[in-house]
Amino acid sequence: KLYNQIQEAKGNIRVFCRCRPLSKQEVSTGHNAVVDFDAAKDGEIGIMNGGATKKSFKFDRVYTPKDNQADVYADASPLVTSVLDGYNVCIFAYGQTGTGKTFTMEGTEQNRGVNYRTLEELFKIAEERNETYSYNLSVSVLEVYNEQIRDLLATSPSTKKLEVRQAAEGFHHVPGIVEAKVENIKEAWDVLQAGSNARSVGSNNVNEHSSRSHCMLCIMVRAKNLMDGVCTKSKLWLVDLAGSERLTKTDVQGERLKEAQNINRSLSALGDVISALATKNNHIPYRNSKLTHLLQDSLGGDSKALMLVQISPSENDLGETVSSLNFASRVR
Ligand code: ADP
Ligand code: MG
Repeated sequence: KLYNQIQEAKGNIRVFCRCRPLSKQEVSTGHNAVVDFDAAKDGEIGIMNGGATKKSFKFDRVYTPKDNQADVYADASPLVTSVLDGYNVCIFAYGQTGTGKTFTMEGTEQNRGVNYRTLEELFKIAEERNETYSYNLSVSVLEVYNEQIRDLLATSPSTKKLEVRQAAEGFHHVPGIVEAKVENIKEAWDVLQAGSNARSVGSNNVNEHSSRSHCMLCIMVRAKNLMDGVCTKSKLWLVDLAGSERLTKTDVQGERLKEAQNINRSLSALGDVISALATKNNHIPYRNSKLTHLLQDSLGGDSKALMLVQISPSENDLGETVSSLNFASRVR
């Protein structure tokens, strides 16, 4: 309901901002928090800039470090579940490495994130509607690293380069990619785990690798209306983006430089697509990156998108925090 209310008033892209708590280490080393949540209820976040001046940013929702996984999911739920009504949807977590993108999307077993909660709710609603609709759900898990798509569910490494193609009816897809059929949350969870495990294969530092690649989960929904026999196909993308931090001086060479440039390019491409959509530009530059090309059906048109900007409260991260908030403001 919340989503639809704001939706009517504005375009198709919502922006929620979530700030993680100070870590134990930050607390013990005496880092100050520079984020002010006084107006968080009104969707406003304040950043103390060296104590004196305060810059504020406005979003559709602001989550303070006290808000939990269920709070975030409660607001995302109407959006994600609209995939069952035939909408293409996408949710992506944006922000500096270490701000909680993976925590929000994947979560942990004790603290389930958006991905798990979404699948759980989709199965629940599908079950409730089983007299009027027959739903088939399948899941693909991809990684985009250095502008290359990797299928994390493939049982053998693919010899062919995976590319985004447009089918006759306009639907974008990646020919050859595994679409695992899932019938319940247990099966879906196993598939997510398999994807997650495949992500670490071939990288010596899993965390570093995952912060430099986009992890993309696609839930395909095929629905048949049992009353009139009409079939629809729609998809939901759940994306944990690569870290948005800028290059550090030590990274300016070799593989790191290439990675950083590719991340930069795809995140700017995402920003460009969203701002072109927001200004109702005729040309939407989807093809400038694999990321935007993959998300094309779920960004623009009558699709629904949600960006979760993740930030750190620490004074040490001030520069990156402001940069993320600026990126997000451009989107609104
Ligand atoms: P990212 O994916 O953006 O690099 P992570 O999700 O790995 O960041 O989060 C970094 C650390 O902060 C992890 O230890 C995570 O558990 C913790 N964390 C992030 N957000 C929260 C939160 N809202 N509440 C508690 N811990 C969090
Ligand atoms: Mg992460």
